[in-house]
Amino acid sequence: MREIIHVQVGQGGNAIGAKFWEVISDEHGVDPCGIYHGNSDLQLERINVYYNEASGGNFVPRCVLVDLDPMNLDVVRSGPYGQVFRPDNFIWAVGGASNNWAKGYYTNGAEIIDSVLDIIRKEAEGCDCLQGFQLTHSLGGGTGSGTGTLLINKVREEYPDRMIYTYSVCPSPTVSNTLVEPYNTTLSINQLIESCDETFCIDNEALYDICFKTLRLTTPTFGDLNHLISVAMSGVTTCFRFPGQLNADLRKLSVNTVPFPRMHFFMCGFAPLTSRGSQQYRAITVPDLTQQMFDAKNMMAGCDPRHGRYLTVATVFRGRMSMKEIDEQMVNIQIKNSSYFVEWIPHNVKVAVCDIPPRGLKISATFIGNTTAIQELFKRISQQFTSMFRRKAFLHWYTAEGMDEMEFTEAESNMNDLVTEYQQYQEATTEEGEYEDGEEE
Ligand code: GDP
Repeated sequence: MREIIHVQVGQGGNAIGAKFWEVISDEHGVDPCGIYHGNSDLQLERINVYYNEASGGNFVPRCVLVDLDPMNLDVVRSGPYGQVFRPDNFIWAVGGASNNWAKGYYTNGAEIIDSVLDIIRKEAEGCDCLQGFQLTHSLGGGTGSGTGTLLINKVREEYPDRMIYTYSVCPSPTVSNTLVEPYNTTLSINQLIESCDETFCIDNEALYDICFKTLRLTTPTFGDLNHLISVAMSGVTTCFRFPGQLNADLRKLSVNTVPFPRMHFFMCGFAPLTSRGSQQYRAITVPDLTQQMFDAKNMMAGCDPRHGRYLTVATVFRGRMSMKEIDEQMVNIQIKNSSYFVEWIPHNVKVAVCDIPPRGLKISATFIGNTTAIQELFKRISQQFTSMFRRKAFLHWYTAEGMDEMEFTEAESNMNDLVTEYQQYQEATTEEGEYEDGEEE
């Protein structure tokens, strides 16, 4: 079995993580007490990827819950699946990180990191063949961003040959009022570039737009945003959780989607989009799914894919559909939009199919795009970062925790370099004499 250890850090990280476990527990027939009530062997075949089987036969999420503020963990504990987690895997401190990356990374967070690593070690020892780690966190605060990235670095050191991937929530001024979020985000991205294998950029700005414009919710809450994140996470992890060949584990997904180590920041999307508790009124077809999945409006990062080019794409269709129709539709969309796919990576769109649909839908599709348009997200953060950093605004909160200004400068230029690299690959074309697929731009 190829196990994954899931870690959730900070307020946003824990809220999203808790929702993820609710959704996948339901999909695998696991009730809030960890008891299996499912109806298909497929639910159990790869359940060990995410769950440990306890001696009583119940399933326990392989999940570590971390926060510098115990209140957020109380919220998880009293939530719908709060009792399913192993009580020893809740690790907290008091004092919080005050939306300060330096507190999360260097001071308050550093104090609890060893207890977190102890639990991770215990979980890893119980694994048959650990494939890697997944982390949910937000980048705008202090704990998920600071302690989250500290943990990634420590895990990388201790398990250098295992995969690490994250669902990282990027801030939006529409959703939050904390001014220093661009600092915390840039400092985190600086770490993620180096120490992480795959990052799903979940952008609160884009989620808010989806809620507001597509789902017509007038005052979207975190609950609404997290619902969207959880359906995307369920979609992305489908191939890890259910039997199948394509992108069946973290490394395979990475091999298919990451052409250069630093270019591992993905945009994801889901179709059909539905709000919490709503249902489908119209039968959805494979052409609908394909069209919606590639639609800029469905993307969970505030970047327009038409402003860039796809290096790679991985898609996951769920439910009973004709494979032939899926293939036709996917070929169709690539031919029509050929200029949006770099021609120097032939066959850069992969399609996986899983018979089991998510709850409440007959068919669905999840989109994982490695597009150079993701630079728009980094540019947005970078502009906000630079306008404050130029005047050294709020810097004293960070230097008071022992941070050096130099680290800010380095983080800024690392992220700007990333933007430049995306731009270079966007402009790169097939050299004469190399592979040509005959498509004109
Ligand atoms: P931490 O506890 O110090 O990691 O701080 P937070 O997780 O509260 O980080 C603040 C950032 O996360 C802000 O950009 C918030 O908008 C965002 N955030 C906080 N909670 C949630 C949540 O439940 N869902 C989403 N999508 N974003 C959140």
